[in-house]
Amino acid sequence: MALSKLMEGIYADVSGTNGGNHGAIVLENEIVMIDSGMIHHKSLETKNNLEEKVGLSIENLILTHSHSDHVFGAQAFEPVNIIASVPMQERCDKNLEAEWKRESLLKRYFEVKEERPELWNAVKTLSIRVPTITFRDKISLGKDSEITVKLLGGHTSGSSIVISHKQKAIFVGDLIFNGLFPYGGDPTCNPDDWIEALEEVRDIGYETIIPGHGPICGINELEEYTHALKELRDAVRNAVLFGTLKEQMMDEGQIPKPLQSGIERFGDVTLDHWFGFYQ
Ligand SMILES: [Zn+2]
Repeated sequence: MALSKLMEGIYADVSGTNGGNHGAIVLENEIVMIDSGMIHHKSLETKNNLEEKVGLSIENLILTHSHSDHVFGAQAFEPVNIIASVPMQERCDKNLEAEWKRESLLKRYFEVKEERPELWNAVKTLSIRVPTITFRDKISLGKDSEITVKLLGGHTSGSSIVISHKQKAIFVGDLIFNGLFPYGGDPTCNPDDWIEALEEVRDIGYETIIPGHGPICGINELEEYTHALKELRDAVRNAVLFGTLKEQMMDEGQIPKPLQSGIERFGDVTLDHWFGFYQ
């Protein structure tokens, strides 16, 4: 696996072939990795390839949030500092007590071993890594604070963005599923915070946005996505108010156009959570 060079100092993989999008920012003396991918064998190839290409080593790995497709590759980057927000770490601790238990993981991924053999293979030797450095609001990296990591919440309570000031680029994690219906079914997902987070990203005004899923985007796509999420949120709030069922809402075509693709994957689980949220 190789990350593609987006511009001087910024690399990313938005192919979706190793879980969620992930990328890197090159500083003067080190590489900072953003999210780890999901299949640690592939993540190791990514690490080796990038370090060789750039001639520096990855010292810090920032995890935008706690979902498996962004964190299960982390063991490949060791030794490394793992940086994330406090609520992200709290989610990891909770997961380790339940769905991330070894037997639960083996059971869940055994069921998909035919469709996703690489993932099944990786899960057999998976060793989950959790944050080693946490922050409450934001943290800076680099000699001249070239990188800011900021907690915004929304998609999950611990969701953070990674801002690279020099290149005016922002890794937004799963705050954007570019061109897709988002996964919004995490128990800590807060649609209001999510919309506010996207508005905050827009206010920063940087043109290059690396989403958690889907291709790289700019301010226009960001605004379109924010608008679509607002429409979806309002449709859910109205449905709850008037006692409309989720299925009815979906049938009546109240799903905004930019979110219609991928709804078969995440529609139910997301809307179940959002209906409960506004109930
Ligand atoms: Zn996610």
